[in-house]
Amino acid sequence: MTGPGSASAAGVRRLMRQIRQVMAQSGGAQARLDQFVSIIARNFVAEVCSIYLKRAGGSLELCATEGLDPDAVHRTRLNAGEGLVGYIAANAEPLRLTDARAHPAFVYLPETGEDRVASFLGVPILRGGRPIGVLTVQNSAPRQYDEEEVETLQTAAMILAEVVTDPTLATGLEGIELRPSRPERHVGRRINAGVAIGVAVKREPHVAPTQLIAENPEYEAERLERAIAALRKGVDSLFEGRTSELVGAPREVLEVYRMFANDRGWLERLIEAVRSGLTAEAAVERVRNEHRAKLMSARDSYLRERLHDLEDLANRMLRHLAEDEGRRLGEPSAGIEDGVIFARTLGPAELLEFDPAKLRGVVVEEGSAFSHAAIVARALGVPMIGRAEGILDRVENGDAVIVDGERAEVHLRPTNDVVDAYKERMALSAAEEERIALLKDEPSVTRDGRAVSLLLNVGLNVDLAQIERVGADGIGLFRTEFQFMLAERLPRQDEQTALYRAALDAADEKPVVFRTLDLGGDKLLPYAEIEREENPAMGWRAVRLGLERSGLMRRQLRALVAAAAGRELSVMFPLVATVTEFRDARGLLEKELERAARRGDGVPTSFRVGAMLEAPALAFQLDELMRHADFLSIGANDLLQFFFAADRGHAKLAERYDPLNPAALRFLKQIRDACAAQDKPVTVCGEIAGRPLEAMTLIALGFDRLSMAASSMGRIKRLVLSLDAERAAGRVGALIASSSDTIRPELVALASELGATL
Ligand code: PEP
Ligand code: MG
Repeated sequence: MTGPGSASAAGVRRLMRQIRQVMAQSGGAQARLDQFVSIIARNFVAEVCSIYLKRAGGSLELCATEGLDPDAVHRTRLNAGEGLVGYIAANAEPLRLTDARAHPAFVYLPETGEDRVASFLGVPILRGGRPIGVLTVQNSAPRQYDEEEVETLQTAAMILAEVVTDPTLATGLEGIELRPSRPERHVGRRINAGVAIGVAVKREPHVAPTQLIAENPEYEAERLERAIAALRKGVDSLFEGRTSELVGAPREVLEVYRMFANDRGWLERLIEAVRSGLTAEAAVERVRNEHRAKLMSARDSYLRERLHDLEDLANRMLRHLAEDEGRRLGEPSAGIEDGVIFARTLGPAELLEFDPAKLRGVVVEEGSAFSHAAIVARALGVPMIGRAEGILDRVENGDAVIVDGERAEVHLRPTNDVVDAYKERMALSAAEEERIALLKDEPSVTRDGRAVSLLLNVGLNVDLAQIERVGADGIGLFRTEFQFMLAERLPRQDEQTALYRAALDAADEKPVVFRTLDLGGDKLLPYAEIEREENPAMGWRAVRLGLERSGLMRRQLRALVAAAAGRELSVMFPLVATVTEFRDARGLLEKELERAARRGDGVPTSFRVGAMLEAPALAFQLDELMRHADFLSIGANDLLQFFFAADRGHAKLAERYDPLNPAALRFLKQIRDACAAQDKPVTVCGEIAGRPLEAMTLIALGFDRLSMAASSMGRIKRLVLSLDAERAAGRVGALIASSSDTIRPELVALASELGATL
């Protein structure tokens, strides 16, 4: 036999060269498929080579053949699981048989003229781990196909997958469904409200089809080796905690991860794939696809998790390979118009990589409403859905999608009717938005005359324009770390000053409360090495990091002082747990003020310094704290995570503890009463402040300063205007004595009884 396997590397290379020529030619899909089968048949010295592709209903259609009856093309169809071809597609694994007829799945198809055939080799054509067809070769003489031939046919199938799914060609094959094409509706959990129509962008590196076939296989093998070495080194340092990535991953997860990185099976598959004529990148894609195909069908969630480990490793390999060539594998899709990001999980910095002007929505398989990515999505005003399990396997880049943040639904490839219905809804909600917008200049006062200050949570430059647009009373929380997370290096002091000054200018005399850097936890800087921690949310973060790395904090305070020259400056420190921490931090600010005065630089006309109450401990030191602090801000996201000892970003805990739990509300009320007793202003600036029912409750508890994302402002203003605060206070005061887990239903009923608009 002189097939490419036994004829070794030279034969494979010849085959790849020919395939490359087919790919480079113009002509429709059918012409390419016809050429493809004839090249494969010739190279394998096989009487028959056929391509079967999946139709919309799941059957497999003979789309091209060399050796079978040409009239059977586009006529012969096999149902899912039927015949050897159906069997291969169902199992997503190659099948090689010396005597095809002896296999239990064999069915005889007279119309194909298949009767001469004895030996059979078939491999699945995989896309994203999903079988979209089958490529077969057959010989009339009984023969044993060897390992390398299987390998070569798989490589050819991978290239074929790219050829047939090329959107410019797909139209040539009627009824064939090479990517999921039917509409699907998935339900997850709402992370951020809003509705968007857009185009799917999967957050994973993808290898362009033009990069599949190696020009120089030896060179590709060397690149692969270098990338493997770099990968191992990277994983080892992850494991030893020398880098900030994967912070918080439990040790067992890292163990499994490292096991894969050193797994001979995985590495050998990569090496074989390169030997079969693929580039190093294509080899990674191919092996990833094969693993996906195997693991995707696994029901076991443990196995599915392992799939994610392998995906991460594959992505890492692609990054190393790109770096090897001096390229940076950025997000090629970062700038796609109307993009809706699909990812397994997403950190805040990763979300910020996307161009906010073009981003329409976010869908993650995990995630929670209190995570920082959720906060960024809210800041950007885009809908976000979490816990959309398995959606990554069903969505393809470029699919039309609708993200419905109200109903927590994602529509993939929606029909025109659905799109029209959504367009109508969006027009209606735009009209409602407009009505709400009319309220923007109304003073924020309840029906019975209580003033409630509505402030903004901001952090991005794009947020600043919102102050004027939504008619906020000021900025209650300026998350200064976002600038640091967006940058490629530590922002210089003058860059910091410029942003703070822009915020003060945008606020136009209204108060702006700057929070000093809240780094650590899940807010990591891509360019800074931070030690791996067991419990990052409770670790070396926020003001703790600021006090220890006081150079960083002082530079920031200096920038704040400079920006506020001639105006009022309000600064607060995140995650203060003791009075001493607060006094130390305040001391640093005072030093900067003195320094500026000494040097004759401009200084603020006045300044106010506050603490964020996020660590429950501080709630028990308020009397003492208030001797030194001018105001308090309750970071309810962190406070509640520590109150319930429940990670705010944890998907499984996302709905376990309701912020409207009466014990939590009693706790909040105590804090508010302690501040009132000392005559110190207190603001609530966690996500709950921007939710109507929660905001109603907070107002009823006596809070009169709420800070929220711009997108919440209109609804909260409408609520305030509709609320009788006095009556609500009486009723809520009684409800919080309850011992149930939540008083949400009672509060909903109360809102409706009082006529408060939620
Ligand atoms: C909070 O914890 O509630 C808060 C406002 O800060 P962040 O969400 O940025 O941690
Ligand atoms: Mg916080």
